[in-house]
Order: sequence, then structure tokens, then C-alpha cells
Amino acid sequence: MPLKANDPSLSSWLAVPENSDFPIQNIPFGVFLTRDDVITIGTRIGDHAIDLGALHQLGYFSEIPLTDDIFLQDTLNDFISDGKKTWRLVRNRISQLFEKNNQELQKNKDHQKIVLFTMDEIEMQLPVQIGDYTDFYSSKEHATNVGKMFRDPENALLPNWLHLPVGYHGRSSTIIPSGTPVRRPHGQTLPKGAENPVFGPSRLVDFELEMAFITTDANALGEPISVDEAEEYIFGMVLFNDWSARDLQKWEYVPLGPFLAKNFASSISPWIVTLDALEPFRVASPKQDPEPLPYLKQKGSKSFDIHLAVDIKTEDGSVTTVCNTNFKYMYWTMSQQLAHHTINGCKINSGDMMGSGTISGPTPDSYGSMLELSWQGTKEITLKNGTTRKFIGDNDTVIMKGHCAKNGVRIGFGEVSTKILPAVNLNKK
Ligand code: MN
Repeated sequence: MPLKANDPSLSSWLAVPENSDFPIQNIPFGVFLTRDDVITIGTRIGDHAIDLGALHQLGYFSEIPLTDDIFLQDTLNDFISDGKKTWRLVRNRISQLFEKNNQELQKNKDHQKIVLFTMDEIEMQLPVQIGDYTDFYSSKEHATNVGKMFRDPENALLPNWLHLPVGYHGRSSTIIPSGTPVRRPHGQTLPKGAENPVFGPSRLVDFELEMAFITTDANALGEPISVDEAEEYIFGMVLFNDWSARDLQKWEYVPLGPFLAKNFASSISPWIVTLDALEPFRVASPKQDPEPLPYLKQKGSKSFDIHLAVDIKTEDGSVTTVCNTNFKYMYWTMSQQLAHHTINGCKINSGDMMGSGTISGPTPDSYGSMLELSWQGTKEITLKNGTTRKFIGDNDTVIMKGHCAKNGVRIGFGEVSTKILPAVNLNKK
């Protein structure tokens, strides 16, 4: 089935501001609360949110085999379960309906009043109920930087790293949408030179610039997904800030890996940009040496050219960009991650989320965490208002953005923006 919605020559009868992440070629999927306090599934063109539940009830999807309530739900899980053919039919139909020469909805002002919202009239929710969340560690630059800092500069990568996409199982209950503030976590840390740990608020709260992909039902228990088929089971991607408390992490992570340093919060951008929309921005991933084992060997270009940036916004409103990088630097691709994840027969469900791991590029201004940008706190980052940071301060807001651009079309993810609030007072009760 052709990806008609990706045609760069299309434009919409809805206004799309210049440099918008959401032209008619994007058509992402999300869940929002409307001005009437109704939760619905929707999409976005320019600065308009479109209620797909209402569009479906009004008969605009009558040519597509969909259940009546598919968009009248709190999450996208059932729609994602319908599979790639349905996602593509729906995206193509939305594209057709909002294309500038199409009159069906354009001439029906009554229907427009029901289905169209401005972004300030709605509140974005988590787009999926995330059953399981896995976080990988797939940026060679990031893994090398961390290895240099914490282990041995000469042997920064552990022996397994070049042979498999390293990952761990995270916790889905604390994945939150953009705009939800996060409290600085408490925990145990081991002060430098001390023999015993102390308890208190983390002093080293950090962001991790990542992207995450969301899967559909992919396999039966025991059945692997091949690296060649993996993309068939990926619905789309979001920006992902995997909040990390570095001091807690350092003390707790041996031998089973991250725990409380990571599960206090992870933030995602609310619109899922489909893999179909990203198709024009496909690029090759870095050459892999040594060659991976046959089950991880991929054909063709399996990465995407996605510009990524991180801003720190301070309480006075001043905004400083601290990182510019690109998703294309990732050593292990999403296809390899999903193939590896299931090679033992692990079952993947609709709405599962897989984080890429911190995305660092080759230059110091392209590192995807404060841990690397401040080189473990040995360097200060000067912000535009003259203050400095080694990690993230109370009342700082971290804003991550991402977009692709080619042939005059810009497809973006919007942003994931999260404010860090002071730790709760545990003595007050
Ligand atoms: Mn992470």
C-alpha cells in the first residue's frame, strides 16, 4: 500500500505555521483530554488537534474496517494492535481529508466545530498504556564516555558491547507525559571516601536524551522476530527523557544494574510519530565492526536522520541549548534491538516501549547527558543567564526537541518538557 500521506507536495486547508513539526505529512497519533473533559484519540496538523473518535462517529472512516469505538479510548493500544496496514489506511485517509483541495470536511463547518481543537484547548495524555519498558544502551559514543569515566579509558567498552545491544528491563509505572513535573528523588549514596552510605535528596539529577519506539503485538511466546521483519512491528517513535540520579546509580547499580536511580520518572513527548512518516528520512547506521552474529545482521538503511536538541530553561525564563545531536549516530538500530530482545522467545505486546539509550554524538557539544557534558562534574556548563550547572537544579526545566528535514518537509516530535521540583520534605507529616 502506498504511503500517499508522505507526498511532499501536499498542503492542508488547516494553517501550518512555518517550521511547524506537524505539517500534513506528519499525522502523528496521541491521546488528549478535550475542552469537554472527554478523553479521545487524535492527531495534529499545525496547531490544531483533531478528534479521531468524533471523525469516526461522523462517518469519515467508513471505508476502513475499524471497530466503532477504536478511537474512543484512553490509549492507542487497540489501534496499534490492528497492525501496520490499518495504521497506513487511517493515516492516508486523514491526509486526504485535510488536503487543501478536499471539500468533505472543509465545507462542513458544523463538523469542524466537533472535531477541531486548538492546542490550548486540550491536555495531552500518555498515548499508550505501556505494559513493558526496556531501555537499551546503544550509543557507542555514550557507552565509551561512561566507560572512560567509570572504568578504564583504555578499555572503555565492555567485551559484550560490540556484539549485542545491551539493555535492561525498566519500570513502566513512572513513565509520564511532557509537562508533568518531577520531584528530586531521595535515596542512598556513598560519599567519596566514605565507608557507609548516607540518605538524602539526590544531588546529581541528570537527563538522558533518548528516543523510544512503541511496538505492536509481535510474536507468540517462544518465537523470535527476525531483524528483517522487525520494523513491521514498530508503530512509531517519541522523544524520551530517561531521568537519572547519578549518585544513587553509582552506589546501587552493582551487580544487577539500574534500579531506584532510574525508576522515579521517565518523560515522553505525547505525539507518536509513525515509522511510516519517518520513511523519507531513512539513513544508514554506523558501520559495525566486528560484524554482528547472523541473527543481528541487517540489510539496507535502518536508521533515521533525526536532529535532536536539549534546552535547559531556568526559573527566570532564560533558555540555553546544551546539546545538539542526531539519532543516526546510534550504533545498534531499532531492528537489531527488537531482534535481539526476542531471539530468546521473549513476547512483545502492543504498547511496549523500548528506549534507545542516551544518544551522544562524536563531539563534546553532542553529548546526551549532563554526566558527559560536565564530564562527571569536572566541567561547568555556563547558561545564558550567567549561572552554571554540572547537573540539573531545582526548578530547572529540561526541554528535548527532535525533527527531520528534507526536500522542504519538516517532520518533528514537538517536545518533551519537564520541570524538576525540590525533593519532598520527608520530615513533614
Ligand atoms: Mn537510559
